[in-house]
Amino acid sequence: MWQRIFGLAGALAVGFVTMVTTAEAAPRCRNTHNFDAWMAAFKKDALAQGITQQTLSAALDGVTFDPAIIRRDSGQGVFQQSFLQFAGRMTAAGRYQNGLQQLKANAALLAKIEQATGVPPPVVVALWGLESDYGAYKGGIYQIIRSVATLAYDCRRPDFFRDQLMGALRIVQRGDLRPDQMIGNWAGELGPTQFTPSDYFKHGLDFDGDGRVDMINSKADALASAANLLKSFGWQRGQPWLQEVRVPAEMPWQESGLDNKHPRSQWVKWGVRSAHGAPLPSDNLEASLILPMGRLGPAFLAYPNFRAYIEWNAAIVYATTAAYFGTRLAGAPPVGPGNGQPVVPTTEQIQELQRLLIARKMLTGEADGRLGSATRAAVKQAQLKVGLPADAYPTVELIERLKTAR
Ligand code: CA
Repeated sequence: MWQRIFGLAGALAVGFVTMVTTAEAAPRCRNTHNFDAWMAAFKKDALAQGITQQTLSAALDGVTFDPAIIRRDSGQGVFQQSFLQFAGRMTAAGRYQNGLQQLKANAALLAKIEQATGVPPPVVVALWGLESDYGAYKGGIYQIIRSVATLAYDCRRPDFFRDQLMGALRIVQRGDLRPDQMIGNWAGELGPTQFTPSDYFKHGLDFDGDGRVDMINSKADALASAANLLKSFGWQRGQPWLQEVRVPAEMPWQESGLDNKHPRSQWVKWGVRSAHGAPLPSDNLEASLILPMGRLGPAFLAYPNFRAYIEWNAAIVYATTAAYFGTRLAGAPPVGPGNGQPVVPTTEQIQELQRLLIARKMLTGEADGRLGSATRAAVKQAQLKVGLPADAYPTVELIERLKTAR
C-alpha cells in the first residue's frame, strides 16, 4: 500500500517518501516499446483474462500516454519528517477535533462496519482523516485509467501497474464506476480512502446496498471498504493495535523493532511501562516495541493488529502515525516526548551514514538519504558492532564511530 501516501502528499504537500528503497534507487530505465503497440498487446491479454471487448472499448479507446504522469513519478523529492514532526502535523488539533465529530456523526454506520469487519470506529475514522481529511480531499484530478496505463507501459514498475490497469477494467466491467468517473490520484488511487484499483476490485464493499461499489460518492462504501481491507490484512476483532509505553534508561535495545515479538510479561521484565493509565499487564499477549525516533523518543508496543497498518502503508512513520491517531480517537492522551531529546538526523547525515554502511557491506543499494527499514536494520547491526545502544536510529556518534572504526 505504499502507493496511498502519494494522495496524501498531493493533498497536503507533505512530500513524504515511502517508496521501496531499491526500486527508487535504481537508475531511470528506458522505454523501448511503442505505446500503441504495447496497448494492442495489453488488450489481447485483457481479453484472454475475461475482460470483454465492450469494456475494453469503453475504458481504453483513445487513451494516450501521459508524460506528465511520468514526470510526477520521477520527481518525488527526498524529504523526510521524524515521527513527532509527521504525527504532529497529520494529527493536529483541528483534525483530531474533526475526527471526534465524525465519530459521533457517523456512529450508526461505523457500528455496522465494526459488526461486519471487526474494525473499530476510531481506526476507520483515523485512516479516513489521514488519507483525505474525512473526504475533503477528493482524491486527485487525474484520469485513473490513463494514469495507470501510462505507468503500466513505463519500464519502472510495469507489473504492479499492469495489475492496477486490469483492476480498473474489472471495476468498469462490474459496473461500479464508468471510466469517466474514475478520477483520482496520479498513481491510481481512488476516493477518500485512496484505494488502488486492484484493492478496490478485490476488497471493495457495496455497503449502502445500491448494487455498486462506489467509493468515490458513497461514504458507506468507502469506509466499509477500508475496514474490509484491514480485515483482509488480518485484523482481529476486539484486539488492540498500538499502545504508547515508557521505556527504561537501559534495556536490550536490539529487541526493539517489528521483527522482534515478545509477550508483554517479557517487556515488563525489561522495564517497559504503560505511558498512561493502568499498569502494563504482565501477560502472554505478543507485542513488538517500536521506537520510531530511537530510545530517547516516543515508544509504542505494537500488537498483531499493527501488521494491518504496515500492509496498508509500509512506511513505519506513516503506519505508526495512523495507528497512533486511531488510539487518540479511541481516547488515548497525546503522545509524550519520550525519555529525552532525540536529535533528528539530516538527509545529508543519513546519506553519509548509508555510504559508510554500504562500504562495510552492511547495506546494499544507494545512499538515498531515506531512513527506510533496510537502513534502520543496517544501523542496528552497526550499533551492535561498535557497542552503541542498538535502537536502529542514526546518530552523529554512530557516524563518527564508523569513520574511525576499522
Ligand atoms: Ca454502493
